[in-house]
Amino acid sequence: MTHPFDLSGRVAIVTGANTGIGQAIAVALAAAGADIACVGRTPAQETVGKIRDLGRRAEIVAADLSTIEPVRRVVDETVARLGGLHILVNNAGIIRRADAVDFTEADWDAVVDTNLKSVFFLSQAAGRHMIAARHGRIINIASMLTFQGGIRVPSYTASKSGVGGLTKLLANEWAAKGVTVNAIAPGYIATNNTAALQADEGRNKAILDRIPAGRWGDAADLGGAAVFLASDAAAYVQGHILAVDGGWLAR
Ligand code: NDP
Repeated sequence: MTHPFDLSGRVAIVTGANTGIGQAIAVALAAAGADIACVGRTPAQETVGKIRDLGRRAEIVAADLSTIEPVRRVVDETVARLGGLHILVNNAGIIRRADAVDFTEADWDAVVDTNLKSVFFLSQAAGRHMIAARHGRIINIASMLTFQGGIRVPSYTASKSGVGGLTKLLANEWAAKGVTVNAIAPGYIATNNTAALQADEGRNKAILDRIPAGRWGDAADLGGAAVFLASDAAAYVQGHILAVDGGWLAR
């Protein structure tokens, strides 16, 4: 009997796969049997090496996802190079910090274009392919700020709550077409993105005091959730936002 989480023969796109959560998810999907298109600005050489060491195929697809043209060609390039597309993980994301009264249009556009606009248009391109095949899995990387307001991160909060809404809309539209659309909401995960917070003794302590698990998450903590949502085991999971947060939201 095949393991219910087996991804052999599946092709996945993972955006922002060169580092952090994207790299961990790409490697976890490969460990479950998938071949991976590593999409992003910085070539994901290290990730490709890890995937090939697992005996899976990996390709680098160069794309700056803050602009629409590369977003539109990622799916076709993946299908041409890896022979199909079954799983899309929309992981690439950025954050900009400033008080709401001082927040600039440039910081608004950079974050919303990268974190939200690319998620919609990449999902649209992938969805067209998956609907034609009557099978697909889309996993969006959301945030605690999909549920909470945060502070000094207005475009990030808007983009991540938008990702939550889009996850549900696409799930509604595509559920009867064989495509599931779900999200993972990471809590505080130790990556480059959060290095400054970890280095700030006072803020680091406040964060740790607030996390029931008492530790930062590791990027690898996201791998199992992604494998599950990508697998046949999650065929009836739709429009769900799965928090992987050491209990942050439970508090
Ligand atoms: P990192 O900063 O370590 O990685 C972000 C990734 O996104 C990098 O691969 C980066 O590529 C890529 N990226 C950014 N902008 C673009 C772009 N314009 N085009 C293509 N790729 C781009 O962050 P994390 O691993 O921590 O974050 C991954 C996701 O998880 C993000 O969506 C983030 O919002 C989310 N998240 C993270 C949390 C955390 O605590 N770490 C908590 C909640 C959510 P490059 O190296 O080229 O810039």
